[in-house]
Amino acid sequence: MIVVKVGGSDGIDYDAVCADLAERWQAGEKLILVHGGSGETNRVAEALGHPPKFVTSPSGYTSRFTDRQTLEIFEMVYCGKMNKGLVERLQRLGVNAVGLSGLDGRIFEGKHKDSVRSVENGKVKVLRGDHTGTVEKVNTGLIELLLGAGYLPVLTPPAASYEGVAINVDGDRAAAQLAAALRAEALLLLSNVPGLLRDYPDEASLIREIPANDVESYLEFAQDRMKKKVLGAAEAVAGGVGRVVFGDARAGKPISAALAGEGTVVS
Ligand code: ADP
Repeated sequence: MIVVKVGGSDGIDYDAVCADLAERWQAGEKLILVHGGSGETNRVAEALGHPPKFVTSPSGYTSRFTDRQTLEIFEMVYCGKMNKGLVERLQRLGVNAVGLSGLDGRIFEGKHKDSVRSVENGKVKVLRGDHTGTVEKVNTGLIELLLGAGYLPVLTPPAASYEGVAINVDGDRAAAQLAAALRAEALLLLSNVPGLLRDYPDEASLIREIPANDVESYLEFAQDRMKKKVLGAAEAVAGGVGRVVFGDARAGKPISAALAGEGTVVS
């Protein structure tokens, strides 16, 4: 099993990802696609007059503050436009894809964090009404049912909280939990960069290999959202996933290239 996570940043070539995925699927490989949608969510949120609000925690992690209205916009884009756009591409390529969010069948489940600490002008503030959380549990029953019946699952946040509330979760870490739950042989985290860069944004500074027992020490090279990918990789390899690759989804055959070792390989 290979879990492919494709991000939501500008520059990602979704046609290239789907064409590569379809070819491998039709050759008999078992794959699951997980996706993001952050770039498009930001645009739609602006257009709807509810611009995104990002908060930085005291430990330096940036996340989207997700009030109820933001959650609804998030769902429109992730579960609607992005998810159905990918399913449509795959259907056009002859792959019987089924798009689901983590809420459906509680595929992704975790704890709801209602408040977030945010550093603003050097001061720590507590913001309430946040619909975020972290995936702690993956319920694989529905996925196995689909795979067994020949469908390719296309999954996206949000997740379900233990109380059944929709929560915005990080897609990379959700994909990592999924890959671990399925004991996947590989997790590919595809984005709009060649991999983890030692000196971002210098693409010549690509880190080619990270030993599985030392992933956390590479956190220092990752800024903002890239940190979540490094954390996800650490969680996946600790959970038994054979290898994780941070790969480039901007062109070519992104999945095949990552599996051939292009990008940053964590193993
Ligand atoms: P996606 O939504 O595609 O999954 P993110 O935007 O969450 O991706 O994370 C990828 C982004 O992380 C890159 O576009 C880049 O701007 C940023 N980044 C920060 N530090 C690094 C780094 N050291 N190497 C590569 N990318 C980095």
